Amino acid sequence: MKAEIDARLPRGIPLATPSRPRLVVIGNGMAGMRTVEELLKLAPDLYDIAVFGAEPYGNYNRIMLSPVLAGEKSVDDIILNSRSWYEENGIRLHAGDPVVAIDRTRRIVRSKNGVEAGYDRLLIATGSKPFLIPVPGHDLPGVIAFRDIQDVETMLDAARSHRHAVVIGGGLLGLEAANGLMRQGMSVTVVHVTDSLMERQLDRSASALLQQTLERKGLRFLLKANTAEIVGPDRVTAVRFDDGTEVPADLVVMTAGVRPNIDLAKQAGLHCERAIVVDDTLQTYDPRIYAVGECVQHRTATFGLVAPIWDQALVCGAHLAGAGHRRYVQRATATKLKVTGVELYSAGDFIGGPDSEDLVLRDPRRGVYKRLVIEGNRVIGAVLYGDVKEGAWYFDLIQSRTDISSLRSHLLFGKTLCETQAA
Ligand SMILES: Cc1cc2nc3c(=O)[nH]c(=O)nc-3n(C[C@H](O)[C@H](O)[C@H](O)COP(=O)(O)OP(=O)(O)OC[C@H]3O[C@@H](n4cnc5c(N)ncnc54)[C@H](O)[C@@H]3O)c2cc1C
Repeated sequence: MKAEIDARLPRGIPLATPSRPRLVVIGNGMAGMRTVEELLKLAPDLYDIAVFGAEPYGNYNRIMLSPVLAGEKSVDDIILNSRSWYEENGIRLHAGDPVVAIDRTRRIVRSKNGVEAGYDRLLIATGSKPFLIPVPGHDLPGVIAFRDIQDVETMLDAARSHRHAVVIGGGLLGLEAANGLMRQGMSVTVVHVTDSLMERQLDRSASALLQQTLERKGLRFLLKANTAEIVGPDRVTAVRFDDGTEVPADLVVMTAGVRPNIDLAKQAGLHCERAIVVDDTLQTYDPRIYAVGECVQHRTATFGLVAPIWDQALVCGAHLAGAGHRRYVQRATATKLKVTGVELYSAGDFIGGPDSEDLVLRDPRRGVYKRLVIEGNRVIGAVLYGDVKEGAWYFDLIQSRTDISSLRSHLLFGKTLCETQAA
């Protein structure tokens, strides 16, 4: 069977030596390559590795697309692994050639360009697809998402020749896109469906402070606004809302959420719910196939930040290396907004429940707001605005489930004061 598969490989794809099992990675993004890095640390020569990536580059730091858009970094600055890294590690990179089919019976993947590669282990790391709200006009030129280098290039191009941008979605991604476009000289309106920005990370007080700061910087906001239509003859010219009002737009950036990219896994008959279901070792229901990153579902959770993905990569890399003693455990996550001049930090359960209580500090003159959510003498969540110095410490307290009864009266004033009082 193996000889048959290898015989089908096109010319130019070196055959694996029989002693080396073959690992194929689908997705050249943050999760996939971090997993390969973890694997190489433990077992650099174990596999014959091939990586397929839909994007025509090496691996880059997607998080830093926001500073690239804002003109603070260049694309070169955010490359994590250039093509030479793949060569140095003996990895065959098929960049710009997405996998279009997985044949689990023959253990082969096939790419758009017709390359077939056999695998002994397969790693799926296909990330997410941006969700474009399917209103009339959503497919007009000038309507894009914010996910990859191509999107950033489209936005930078638009900023050179157009004036009005509308960003639909007032979450982390939307605000970073809006800030970047404003820094590129565009007049930007952020449209958000609820009455409070970043409501998944911030409470109302912090959200209101954030809005004021961003308005002072020059952004405009339309809250509780339902987009009904993107208007334009052959390119977008305006966004129309369900109350009939319109705002002019030469560019519309939709940042209304993402969906795990699981088409390929579904076609291959892998068990998927909201995403590809994996166990604590990041193995799918097919024991030869692992999956990591935004395309996976662990228990009921899916993922949209890199911190949990780094944990997954560590565990999955170890299992691929045959050092299978690690288990993936979900942990609290923390969020920052990458907008220069905005200090914001949110971690854990910042809403709380019937058994929780809040410790709150407000200093309107300094524009500082801090709220800690406490349950059973433990910090379970934190929202900080204006002064985020203690964010990492509060995050440690959340993670370690430290009993804070003796620190409680000084907790909001930070670690140093708490330690001085305890001494
Ligand atoms: C602008 C922006 C800012 C962000 N800021 C933050 C932040 O501040 N903090 C944070 O924690 N997270 C942030 N994120 C989220 C973070 O980038 C993602 O959580 C992370 O990139 C997910 O990694 P992934 O490998 O699962 O997906 P991705 O990094 O998207 O990688 C998936 C890769 O798979 C490729 N692919 C898909 N299908 C195929 C196929 N069939 N064949 C081959 N290749 C395929 C895709 O093209 C892509 O390159 C941000 C995201 C964006 C877009």
